[in-house]
Amino acid sequence: MSITDPLARLESLIAQAEAKFGPRQPVALTAVGFARVGNPITLFSKQEHGAVILMVAVGEALLTDEPTLQYQLAHEAVHCLAHNFKITRLEEGVATLFGLDHAPAGEEDRLDFVRKQYLADVRSLLKASPDAIRVLRGKSPKFQDIEPADIEALGAAPDLANRLCAPG
Ligand SMILES: [Zn+2]
Repeated sequence: MSITDPLARLESLIAQAEAKFGPRQPVALTAVGFARVGNPITLFSKQEHGAVILMVAVGEALLTDEPTLQYQLAHEAVHCLAHNFKITRLEEGVATLFGLDHAPAGEEDRLDFVRKQYLADVRSLLKASPDAIRVLRGKSPKFQDIEPADIEALGAAPDLANRLCAPG
């Protein structure tokens, strides 16, 4: 599939992420930009009247690397769900999982070692409790506010719960 309109694609992915993981915190405007960034990034900025602007920047190189662009837009869609200043392993793992769900087969092999670990932990959690993310975000819409005790309450082992709440 060709991505001719990355913003429309991102908005569609955010809607799918909301259906799966619970609603996004309200934002005034969303934009996707291509820039000379080393790592793709999701940025939130608060304007004078309290409006939250959301921007996603992905590298120019991705314009010609469609499988990775598909992965990356889906990955960033999860980061777009809430304004977090601390990214936990849980959030990064969910973003990685959702990215792979929307990318061609083979993208998982290209993940770095730490993201493979976060992914394995998130898969363990979802095996114990398939609707875990929506339940957790129902209580704490921001991933950074989710506590190990909340994760343990869903049947996860304490060491897994602690790891998932650590900085990613
Ligand atoms: Zn990420």
